[in-house]
Amino acid sequence: MRRSRALKIIIAVALITAIGPVLTAIYLAQQQGLAAEFDRVTSYARSVAARSDRAVEQMQAAIDTLIAANAEDPCSEAMLTQMRQLGISMEFLKVAGAVSGERMLCSTLGMHEQGLALGPPDSTTPLGARLRLSAPMPFSSGTPYISIEREGFIAMAHRSQAVDLVVDQDGVLFATFDPSTGEIRTASGTVNSQWVSAVDNATEAAFIDDDYIVGVVRSEQVALTGAIAAIPARYLAEQVWAFIGVLLPIGLVTAVVLTGSVLYFARMQVSLPTQIRQGLRRNEFYLVYQPVVNLHTGRWVGVEALVRWQRADGRVMQPDEFIPVAEHSGLIGLLTEKVIELASKDMMATLRDNPDFFLSLNLSARDLQSGTTVDRLMTMVRGNGISAGQLVVELTERMLVDASAARAVLSAMRRQGIQVAIDDFGTGYCSLSYLETMQFDCLKIDRLFVEAIDTEAATNRVVLHIIEMARTLNLKLIAEGVETEAQAQYLREQGVEYAQGWLYSRAITPSELAAQLSRRAV
Ligand code: C2E
Ligand code: MG
Ligand code: MG
Repeated sequence: MRRSRALKIIIAVALITAIGPVLTAIYLAQQQGLAAEFDRVTSYARSVAARSDRAVEQMQAAIDTLIAANAEDPCSEAMLTQMRQLGISMEFLKVAGAVSGERMLCSTLGMHEQGLALGPPDSTTPLGARLRLSAPMPFSSGTPYISIEREGFIAMAHRSQAVDLVVDQDGVLFATFDPSTGEIRTASGTVNSQWVSAVDNATEAAFIDDDYIVGVVRSEQVALTGAIAAIPARYLAEQVWAFIGVLLPIGLVTAVVLTGSVLYFARMQVSLPTQIRQGLRRNEFYLVYQPVVNLHTGRWVGVEALVRWQRADGRVMQPDEFIPVAEHSGLIGLLTEKVIELASKDMMATLRDNPDFFLSLNLSARDLQSGTTVDRLMTMVRGNGISAGQLVVELTERMLVDASAARAVLSAMRRQGIQVAIDDFGTGYCSLSYLETMQFDCLKIDRLFVEAIDTEAATNRVVLHIIEMARTLNLKLIAEGVETEAQAQYLREQGVEYAQGWLYSRAITPSELAAQLSRRAV
């Protein structure tokens, strides 16, 4: 039941980690594609506006030049020459001429005998310039011309030149419009006149409308022109696919890596209890022993058994990796049983030969739920002819909070003479009242506080309080994780009797331990 629920959760997490990056990649591709097309279409519209502005500027400049000539006869030979030169020198300007009423008298093209009828202007600008959107021209009836007329002179440009933009894509529409009226002036195709209103107050806008991505800009320079560019929407799809081509592989790789990791760790978690069970059967667990040293004499007075797991592939796993799993999966009882069995084999001769020497075993919360642990420990004591006082069990503070069964087992152990130590003291929730009511023999100062001794850390004073507390309660003290002589010296000065740590020895195998003990002649 628990396992199938765990599997469902794992599958759900794996699916999310697989699909998440892919969906994110597609979403990003869409956003990027749209942003790229919006950029493109506004830059097209800007080019159209800039071309249109340039055309208007050139027409204005041509008129200014002709006015500045201040000629008595606007159609004199000199003026006609000047008109031709203007037509040649300016990119957008096609025709420059002189006007009277609504007739063009002469122009770049020469004299117009009767004058060329221009018709009424379409609009007049605030500065008095008269605008014609379709000025009639001889010789080129098919080409619409736009014209500006001021103070008797006129300049004309191809109406479509501003929107004659060559771009990579087919079917792109360009248009210019009058920003004051919203009227389309020139267009390279059929342009939706409603697009103009998108730029009401802004100078630029980009949006999608049906089949087009549309960019609209209003020229800031002359304030005479607005421009539109519209790219067929199919190019958006192409752009998105281009981004998908880049982002999707990244998304897929991420998905594979993430899903792989989830499945790997899930497999580890799901199957670890099974593997622990197998490991117990195959005798893959073994114990190493870390000596406990008398800080004042340097003598080795006992050892703490620390369990290790050598996997079939040769990797040695540390207890922090598998003890929590064994605890959660209900296997800790079997593991403790194995630890007691191994310690019996490894240590009984040493304990028998050295009646003052002790063996310390770490227990878990579950071990305190029933009386079997006491029975097992007492079997070990009686079967090997050692005294119960040579056994120490280490419990952490967390195991004792709210556990009345634990208290019962604990007192049973103490009644038998087994010593009880509080491990990792200071890291749990134990209050002074616990220490008073539970009756322990020994207190192990956690490595954390020993580490802080010769530092400025906030915890560096805590060790003094722990020592004081232990003294008040008449508990023996073992300092864990002593790594430097300075730490040892400090602890000695504070009257701590025992220590464990790499300064003295790491955890060693039973044979190394035996060799050391015989050399030291305990
Ligand atoms: P612990 O009981 O507090 O054991 C002390 C840990 O500190 C050990 O790590 C030991 O190798 C390490 N240590 C000792 N001296 C030094 C030192 O000078 N410096 C540093 N940095 N570390 C030092 P280990 O063997 O990895 O054990 C970790 C924990 O796993 C133990 O903490 C204990 O809570 C648990 N454990 C170990 N063996 C057993 C077991 O047989 N049964 C149960 N239930 N828990 C066990
Ligand atoms: Mg311990
Ligand atoms: Mg500890």
